[in-house]
Amino acid sequence: MKKFERNRRDREFSLLIRSRGKCERCGNTQTLQTAHVFSRRFLRIRWNPDNAFCFCCRCHWWAHDNPPFFTEFAKTRLGPKRYQDLLDERNNLSKLEV
Ligand SMILES: [Zn+2]
Repeated sequence: MKKFERNRRDREFSLLIRSRGKCERCGNTQTLQTAHVFSRRFLRIRWNPDNAFCFCCRCHWWAHDNPPFFTEFAKTRLGPKRYQDLLDERNNLSKLEV
């Protein structure tokens, strides 16, 4: 995939995630950003809505500063099945696409 196409998809995906309207951790409605559960380098799940939360910038920093807590947050919010599906999907083709 060309960089231009990736950037276009990133923009659209970010709009979709931020349209949730408030931070999914603290409820703030300002400075909304897209926080990926698994890195964007995993192209297979880069635009999967289960792989992203709408966070305010403070909670986005919290997620990056506290990976174990963010993982727990994601597991709780998605539930064990959806989290595992996401993990499986990440592991699936990552070797081919990274
Ligand atoms: Zn927040």
